[in-house]
Amino acid sequence: MSDRWVIHLSVVANDLLSAQRLARVVAHWTRVLPQTEPGSTTVSAEDDQNVRHWVFCDRIMPGRGRCQLRPEHDGECSRRPRLR
Ligand SMILES: [Zn+2]
Repeated sequence: MSDRWVIHLSVVANDLLSAQRLARVVAHWTRVLPQTEPGSTTVSAEDDQNVRHWVFCDRIMPGRGRCQLRPEHDGECSRRPRLR
């Protein structure tokens, strides 16, 4: 068995985009915990948890780090989050 686990945390949001935006905020907060992997955060509808939606682009950036923007964002990737 792997030593990796997934925490499922229910939230209230009006739609998928709102849920993804909230998940990005929560994921950024978890960066203080070295056990977490915020870039792998996904959201799903409570009644359809097999369909997961990424909340970060997570593309590997030149040098070091991963893109902090939403999936399918406009423009260039960035290590700095844009909360909108
Ligand atoms: Zn990106």
